[in-house]
Amino acid sequence: MAERVIPLVDRRTVASASMLPSQPVAANGLLADTLGRPLRDLRISVTDRCNFRCSYCMPKEVFDKDYPYLPHADLLTFEEITRVARQFLAHGVRKIRLTGGEPLLRKNLEVLVAQLAALRTVDGAPPDLTLTTNGSLLVRKANALKAAGLNRVTVSLDGLDDAVFRRMNDVDFPVAEVLAGIDAARDAGLGPVKINMVVKRGTNEHEILPMARHFKGTGMVLRFIEYMDVGATNGWRMDEVLPSADVVRLIQSELPLVPLDPSVPGETAQRWAYADGGGEVGVISSVTQAFCADCNRARLSTEGKVYLCLFATQGHDLRSLLRGGADDEMLATAVGHIWQGRTDRYSQLRATMTPDSGNGARRVEMSYIGG
Ligand code: SAM
Ligand code: SF4
Ligand code: SF4
Repeated sequence: MAERVIPLVDRRTVASASMLPSQPVAANGLLADTLGRPLRDLRISVTDRCNFRCSYCMPKEVFDKDYPYLPHADLLTFEEITRVARQFLAHGVRKIRLTGGEPLLRKNLEVLVAQLAALRTVDGAPPDLTLTTNGSLLVRKANALKAAGLNRVTVSLDGLDDAVFRRMNDVDFPVAEVLAGIDAARDAGLGPVKINMVVKRGTNEHEILPMARHFKGTGMVLRFIEYMDVGATNGWRMDEVLPSADVVRLIQSELPLVPLDPSVPGETAQRWAYADGGGEVGVISSVTQAFCADCNRARLSTEGKVYLCLFATQGHDLRSLLRGGADDEMLATAVGHIWQGRTDRYSQLRATMTPDSGNGARRVEMSYIGG
């Protein structure tokens, strides 16, 4: 594997200074980008560090002890994150997801959760507040997160077989501890818990059926994610992608499924129900079926850059505005202006890209902007 790892080109320092337009952009929830897409979903990365080394995300050969993680002073503080989130909500965001890196490594995360939970959307409702985690610290943190106002969690889990799981997280972390974390989240009231499984052909496709059997009938929603060409270090190859259609066919062969309608516009997962009433599963076909047309998601990096696409090569720096004394109207204008200029639709264009026309070597890492 090591020979396919591509050396990291550090794109984190490439950010366009947020240019403020001469006229303010009204924060009335009606914002749209160049393709008419509204802004509804904000993912906030709270750390670029992780205690796992999943090969598809933070391969050990690159993310080693010499890797230059962001220095603490570069990270947005909780107050800065909350101020930025408030402007995004004013522009129409309804859902906030905390991610990373591993978000539960950020100290006192429940303090940030409480601050975000106190914000309001343009409709006056609290934001739908969720978190994606590898589950390793959930046993310790689930109750505090719930008490602070977190609504739900998504836990990443790539298999039930202990040897396969230990190999995929590449730090020898036992599957039993993640399963205990999932139970702790459910017991704390952070449900329905979603489980994300990245499927890599040749690595864990034999875990699909055991995972489906395990979570069927539990009220938890298992979702299979196509292995994506995010970042520039995981040595992604198309032949390691198992298309979602194959995942669905495989599950159907043992556990009959019927298709469900999307529950909200812009939903990334295609949903399927077990025909016998045993709950539902989802597939996220980021590679084989682009969902850019409905993509209403922005990402805020750990040190305050806004990314408009998972495959972006460049972010828009809000931290310089925050720390340069900008008031809330200026911040809201910057957010609005950035979104109004958005043209991104990488997954739609992927099929037409040649190795040279793509931006493969220049993309930012998933562990930096969050999934
Ligand atoms: N550490 C947390 C976790 O693993 O849940 C949150 C951050 S992680 C970057 C967010 C999600 O991205 C996880 O569900 C992970 O499986 C997914 N992910 C990371 N690299 C991926 C890749 N190359 N293809 C598909 N999904 C990926
Ligand atoms: Fe860490 Fe999550 Fe990336 Fe795995 S997928 S290395 S747990 S950030
Ligand atoms: Fe959204 Fe970019 Fe993914 Fe398309 S490729 S769905 S624009 S994040």
